[in-house]
Amino acid sequence: MGLYDSFSRLAQEREAFQDDGLNPFGTCIDEVHCATQGRIGNRRVILAGTNNYLGLTFDPQAIAAAQAALVEQGTGTTGSRMANGSYGGHVALEQELAAFFERPSAIVFSTGYVANLGVISALATPKAVVLLDADCHASIYDACALGGAQIIRFRHNDAADLERRMVRLGEQAKHALIIVEGIYSMLGDVAPLQEIVEIKRRLGGYLLLDEAHSFGVMGATGRGLAQALDVEQDVDIILGTFSKSLAAIGGFAVGNDRGMEVLRYASRPYIFTASPSPSAIASVRSALQTIAQAPELREKLWQNAHRLYDGLAALGYQVGPHASPVVPVMIGTKEQGVRFWRALIEHGVYVNLVLPPAAPAGITLVRCSVSAAHSEQEIDVMVEAFAALRDSDILESVA
Ligand code: PMP
Repeated sequence: MGLYDSFSRLAQEREAFQDDGLNPFGTCIDEVHCATQGRIGNRRVILAGTNNYLGLTFDPQAIAAAQAALVEQGTGTTGSRMANGSYGGHVALEQELAAFFERPSAIVFSTGYVANLGVISALATPKAVVLLDADCHASIYDACALGGAQIIRFRHNDAADLERRMVRLGEQAKHALIIVEGIYSMLGDVAPLQEIVEIKRRLGGYLLLDEAHSFGVMGATGRGLAQALDVEQDVDIILGTFSKSLAAIGGFAVGNDRGMEVLRYASRPYIFTASPSPSAIASVRSALQTIAQAPELREKLWQNAHRLYDGLAALGYQVGPHASPVVPVMIGTKEQGVRFWRALIEHGVYVNLVLPPAAPAGITLVRCSVSAAHSEQEIDVMVEAFAALRDSDILESVA
């Protein structure tokens, strides 16, 4: 038995996709010209498969801050937060995040994945019960596995199903962890947070909310879905990433209880991995200020999101349940998905191809991600590309 034999089916399937054209998994973006344009092979493309919601990857202030940090503090910290990897910038950013959320505690992690792993695995011990939305991100599932907790999945966005399962838990529900997301990354829909909070008020439990895709995007000041729905006080811990609206790399947790600080001593993914580089931290600090001071970016993002969503819906495509910066378009079979994705690149539009099991319910979809930096004209080019493919033979058997 060879070391990789158990992966042979997966390998064959993925190689088959590669054989006759551009590989959708791990596509090389050969050049990035700006937040919304790049080059793949010999094709100039509009980048519509990023999570660059506010378009801040080329923000001049963030770049200047990162450059200064690079020169002054070097290329990396070469150590974990617990050891030699906590610099002034990391601590300042934690204070700024806590102030931005008006909460007593914030912790910076190396990525969003590590933030989820760090916080959830420390709390989800073998004695704990975790109720999680079935569509939660892989990092949340992995964190529960690492912690060893009992997992109870409830149907995606189904508060009644959550309630039924909590009632069945009896007294245990009072100490259970409920984990949901703000905007879900595949369908662009949002958690029914008010209903979930109401259940938590009656039955107990602690609520953890991953705002990876909604931070900077929703809420009066960009704090996310909990702010938009006015339930922040009922959320015990908000988790987030620096790799989407904040346009760099790293992750964070903010808590409504200073007790969260103890995770610095109890969380292995905090203790045993190197901290984000000084330049990443500096650009995130700058981007956080921009988010606080430039609500017009959020407005532009939503205008663009509606323009794309409405345009694709009008063409007759099956899109997500409502307009969102994440616009999924359902495309028949896996093979049709790959052909459609490649054809979009031929039309100068780069999006993400998502195949099951990454996409929920066995669906194949192409996932468009809208940015505040997209011009109206770029959104229209995207819609035109989808229009050109609407009548192509790719979709024939599913139209
Ligand atoms: N949570 C969710 C909901 C995500 O979608 C992602 C990334 N796609 C993460 C966490 C992980 O974030 P990062 O890329 O910073 O590790």
